[in-house]
Amino acid sequence: MTIVKLAENNSITIPAEILKRLGLAPGDSLVVEEINGELVARPVRPVDVPHVKPAPDTKSLKDTISRKNLEVGVRYIKGIGPKMAALLEKKEIRTVEDALYLLPLRYEDRRQLIPISSLCAGRSAVFTGTVLSADAATTKGGRRVFEALVRDESGAIVCKWFHANAVWMKRTWKVGRVGVFSGEVNQFGYQREVHHPDVEWLPEGESLQSLLDSDPANFGRIVPVYPLTEGIHQKTMRRVMREVVNGFLPDINSVVPAGLYPAEFPHLRDALGQVHLPPPEADIAVLNAGATPAHLALAYDEFFFWELGLALKKRGVSMEEGIPFQVTHRYTKELAKLLPFELTAAQRRVLAEIKADMMSPHPMHRLVQGDVGSGKTLVALMAALIAVENDYQVAIMAPTEILAEQHWHTIHRWCGQMGLEVTLITAGLKGKNKKEALERIADGTARIVIGTHAVIQEKVDFAKLGLGIIDEQHRFGVLQRGILKKKGVNPDILVMTATPIPRTLAMTLFGDLDLSVIDEMPPGRIPIETRIYFESRRMQLYDMIRDQVRLGRQVYVIYPLVDESEKTDLKAATQMAEHLQADIFPGLKVGLLHGRLSPVEKEAVMASFTSREFDILVSTTVIEVGIDVPNATIMVIEHAERFGLSQLHQLRGRVGRGKEKSYCILMTTGKLSEDGEKRLRVMESTGDGFRIAEADLEIRGPGDFLGTRQAGMPDFRVANILRDGSLLEKARRAAFDLLEDDPELGHAVHVPLHAELLRRWGKRLELAAIG
Ligand code: ADP
Ligand code: MG
Repeated sequence: MTIVKLAENNSITIPAEILKRLGLAPGDSLVVEEINGELVARPVRPVDVPHVKPAPDTKSLKDTISRKNLEVGVRYIKGIGPKMAALLEKKEIRTVEDALYLLPLRYEDRRQLIPISSLCAGRSAVFTGTVLSADAATTKGGRRVFEALVRDESGAIVCKWFHANAVWMKRTWKVGRVGVFSGEVNQFGYQREVHHPDVEWLPEGESLQSLLDSDPANFGRIVPVYPLTEGIHQKTMRRVMREVVNGFLPDINSVVPAGLYPAEFPHLRDALGQVHLPPPEADIAVLNAGATPAHLALAYDEFFFWELGLALKKRGVSMEEGIPFQVTHRYTKELAKLLPFELTAAQRRVLAEIKADMMSPHPMHRLVQGDVGSGKTLVALMAALIAVENDYQVAIMAPTEILAEQHWHTIHRWCGQMGLEVTLITAGLKGKNKKEALERIADGTARIVIGTHAVIQEKVDFAKLGLGIIDEQHRFGVLQRGILKKKGVNPDILVMTATPIPRTLAMTLFGDLDLSVIDEMPPGRIPIETRIYFESRRMQLYDMIRDQVRLGRQVYVIYPLVDESEKTDLKAATQMAEHLQADIFPGLKVGLLHGRLSPVEKEAVMASFTSREFDILVSTTVIEVGIDVPNATIMVIEHAERFGLSQLHQLRGRVGRGKEKSYCILMTTGKLSEDGEKRLRVMESTGDGFRIAEADLEIRGPGDFLGTRQAGMPDFRVANILRDGSLLEKARRAAFDLLEDDPELGHAVHVPLHAELLRRWGKRLELAAIG
């Protein structure tokens, strides 16, 4: 025992030896706390750091989190030569850390050795035995195989290899050799066979028990199965990964303080260890579902940093100085008077949220979600008018020319009546017209500017941009959002999407945006009836079209992209239009719309369809978004099985916009894939965009759902937003709460968090370093 004395001035001097053993340095603090009625002093652990902002002693903390070894190249790992290193690098596994995060795809239960007589067909199993015979053979069908007979006390079984080099095989498969084998057992007539088993030979003179005691990598345990790169054998991979885990796991240090990490999860380091080398008592099914506490811990860690990045970004925006708009009602009231209908409650609510944002002195960053036809355009226009009332310009960006034109039409129609200039800029705008448009944008005459990404081109220079609106966000990357923002001085940003993104996904993708949902349709909409028709009912479909046209309605017939090439796509649609006109509906008028038409031509076709010059419009998918012709009541989708769910939903949303009952006919051939059939059944069973989106996410998986990384999906190594949705919410809460307490991550314990965040997502989220 050492007695530490209090000095007269109430300071303590602790002998250096004791200090060291306590893990303290001069200047550190002790916590005095009451435990079971007794006062106890102990060193401060990082989580104890009180919530007064200390002068951050960041250096010492940073030093304890050395990442040096984790950044070592894989080629320096024992057992990895230059050749294997090159193969791994091809898979983007460059460092020790990359290797540690190369998780098993699945696991095989090789804990039990099964007597050969008890091996069951259809199951993977591990058994031990002696080689009785081994040689090349020919099957009855004339195939060359290599066959070995292996036996134990209980019985014998045949092992078989196809396409094996017999000379090479015979060198290892020697009669009398004892090994441990694993593979799937098959039954052929009375004979059980194992094809291409894995084998581990017992060294001469060694007992099975001594091999088991040496903790073998390939049997006697739950064995990880790694994703393979050509040229690397599974067993090699296992051996190397073991090397990595055993050698470098101690270098894994979580910087997440205990309070921000679910207590039920193992420490990050243990979690990584368990994922590679599951403990013997682990549940194989849970492992294979990626749902062990170890897997969840890793997923949580990933989510936490991503969400922390989003939280920080969001906070960054809210700290920026924005435009405090005033709502004068000058134009918004006027528009309300011009409208032939009232706004829905949902539209009013979302508009109120937008107004509050716009009036605040910080920039708005809001995402408005609303199903097809829920009336987003109008909400956007109202927001635009607020900016215009304040003498600011508005930019509206749409994903396609046709949609930009449609927006222009709608908005120009209303704004024209109020004397506001609305300018459309498209890629096709040339020469004098273009110059003039650009000038009017630059001198502020153009109050609302609408276009595709043409809006964010360098030459487009706004006099005073106050609000940027992006329609159908999922088509644009985060990047475009950034460029648009830079066209003004911290303008407000409003993002609109008709793809109802499931909550978890929205949180991941747009977690730095505030979310408003228009969850109500304008009144009087009659649900669209959706039917799946096979070819045999085509005549019935044509009768139906005739009936509707007789009633004065119009019809869309959509053709998918047959190939990747636009040419065949065009051909199919063109032929269909000709066929329908000549052979099926000679008395009706059939129009054609496709991607090869110039914007002006497209516009002309759409305009004549709107004014009922055609009864039937055959189109490729260029029509997909935003087109609004209330008189159209039938949407026929040819080869519907080839479309994605959200696309089908978008297309269907082109009808049911008026007062008449509408139909969506999904034409398909009998040869449906499982997923294809699932999609069509979902369409048939619901019109609810959110349910469709959720089903879509389920069928396709999150990566595919929104296309690519460009669409904003972070590339998580372990986490799966579909599977781990509730975990994501948990991590999000922890991250946002943390910033609430420590907005700048300035507390000593949080500084390493910030450093780690920058390392992981700094570039991706355009996070700025502090200090
Ligand atoms: P979205 O862009 O959300 O798919 P739109 O803004 O194109 O939907 O609106 C779809 C249709 O509904 C348009 O014809 C629009 O004029 C109409 N609409 C919008 N709001 C209302 C409302 N409150 N009441 C009636 N009709 C509305
Ligand atoms: Mg729209």
